[in-house]
Amino acid sequence: MKRKLNFYAGPSTLPVPVLEEIQREIVDYKGHGLSIIETSHRSKEYDAVHHEAIANIRELLEVPENYYILLLGGGASLQFGMIPLNMLHFAGDDACADYVVSGSWAKKAFGDAKRLGAVNAIFDGKEQNYMTLPPASEIKPSAGSRYLHITSNETIGGLQFRDWPETGEVPLVADMSSDIMSRRIPVERFGVIYAGAQKNLGPAGVTVVIIRKDIAEAAPEQLPDYLSYRVHAEKDSLFNTPPVFSVYALNLVLRYLKQHGGVAPLEEAARRKADLLYQAIEESNGFYRCPVDERYRSQMNVVFRIADESLEPVFLEEAAKHDMVGLKGHRSVGGLRASIYNAMPLSGVEALATLMRSFASRRS
Ligand SMILES: *Cc1c(COP(=O)(O)O)cnc(C)c1O
Repeated sequence: MKRKLNFYAGPSTLPVPVLEEIQREIVDYKGHGLSIIETSHRSKEYDAVHHEAIANIRELLEVPENYYILLLGGGASLQFGMIPLNMLHFAGDDACADYVVSGSWAKKAFGDAKRLGAVNAIFDGKEQNYMTLPPASEIKPSAGSRYLHITSNETIGGLQFRDWPETGEVPLVADMSSDIMSRRIPVERFGVIYAGAQKNLGPAGVTVVIIRKDIAEAAPEQLPDYLSYRVHAEKDSLFNTPPVFSVYALNLVLRYLKQHGGVAPLEEAARRKADLLYQAIEESNGFYRCPVDERYRSQMNVVFRIADESLEPVFLEEAAKHDMVGLKGHRSVGGLRASIYNAMPLSGVEALATLMRSFASRRS
């Protein structure tokens, strides 16, 4: 078996031992004579997986007791609507919400909220082509704001918050889809954190929502059940059939992370891996360039261009010959992007940095 070096932005690379464990267990789960994906979600076998996954998230991210951890379907994209439905839409005529419009994903979150209530773009990176962020200290909620929404890591633009805004009584809501579990986070400073699993946590199909209990419990009665955080919280995310395969695989990833020391070493690894690539870019004498403001460059998605853009497809072809896949930039922005999530080993990033140096020296 030869595994490729997988730089896809999502779904993305997973730890091989996790894939192997799935392979071992998929036909006969722990001697029960059936697969976990053929088992009732009300069975004690699934129940154990479900609650272990929740407990593992709580432990790894040090989530305080006054937060629920929900496992939902619909992707992070459903949260773009659920947040304003639960926290803004029914909150009265004076209510509004604040958004930091930092790139493609924030724009989507903002767009959904706009349909459901009064929203303020308290920052919009449009004029700088979404290549920079506001300093966290300058992000302040507006009067009447029900929450302030940020995107901790813009997966497409390659921008990441380093510090968190101080929003006082106004809940801070963060889409952490593409950097959750890559660093320690002060959960108590957030009202809601949400993340689709398919970047750092597992396969697609499950979304993790960490929500302060009082916020979930205040969900309006008018909402359809599935759209209410309160309903999911009351039922421990077993209101309806959960995405059982995704939760099972998520739990295996979480166990794997725990066995390897939890989040702190991942934070260190993320910094080292990203530094390697940004160094290769900086040391190329302008052959490569990273368009993103140095202060906010992502440690998960390294976006770069070749000065002579006609060489980009050539670089991708060479990378493919070296068994590196997923390095093409998002179709909306072009260029190149290396997504280096938790499960990408340092050696994979070293191989990419080596290829970048050798390509530059041959082609300049
Ligand atoms: C991938 C991604 C999403 C969308 O996730 P889905 O699960 O596909 O809905 C939202 N926000 C960010 C930051 C992402 O990286």
